[in-house]
Amino acid sequence: MSVAENFRSIRRELGGAIKLVAVTKNHGVETMREAIDAGATDIGENRIQEAAEKFKTLDRAVIRHLIGHLQTNKVKQAVKLFDLIQSVDSEHLAAALDKAAAASGKVQEILIQVNLAREVQKSGVLLEDLDGLIKFVDAAENLRLRGLMMIAPNFAEVEECRPLFRQMRKLFDELKISREGFDYLSMGMTHDYKIAVEEGANVVRVGTAIFGERLY
Ligand SMILES: *Cc1c(COP(=O)(O)O)cnc(C)c1O
Repeated sequence: MSVAENFRSIRRELGGAIKLVAVTKNHGVETMREAIDAGATDIGENRIQEAAEKFKTLDRAVIRHLIGHLQTNKVKQAVKLFDLIQSVDSEHLAAALDKAAAASGKVQEILIQVNLAREVQKSGVLLEDLDGLIKFVDAAENLRLRGLMMIAPNFAEVEECRPLFRQMRKLFDELKISREGFDYLSMGMTHDYKIAVEEGANVVRVGTAIFGERLY
């Protein structure tokens, strides 16, 4: 199937209430364009340099998501390039982003990435540090917290993701009660998005199922 057919089929399957972020990392501009022509409204990239080069060729408004780890020395570019930065996971990074956003006269929308499975060497804030990070972001004048993001571990059995997705949804619901604009729970990729959606994700980030395998 073509990129357009893949995109439309997943779009239909998800229904209207779920945001589908088409993850174009490692694919060329033409491929990105095919997805946008097929109706993609949200594009996800995980590297600043690659995104900068691809986005400058775009002539149509799409919502741009940073889904990969962000280093503090790239925050200025990130603030210029992205509408939603999904991978905020430390006060250090939040502080740098706040400063960069202030300098560009922008309120930067972000998600906090949670390392719920406590995977060593993986990005994301640990659960015990989440409240502190939320307080820090709330106090940052140029950041706006829109929700949470999680990347599930690569289990041998994808069903093993389910309890984690469920726990994230519970956490999200509890936080949402007292917060305004706290709308997005981003979880689920090609191999696990169906389970993520069953457990309450309202943003999924899908690359391979739309574009095929990435060439590295
Ligand atoms: C690459 C990537 C995706 C998409 O992965 P697929 O398995 O190709 O769907 C989703 N989220 C993040 C954070 C990624 O880095």
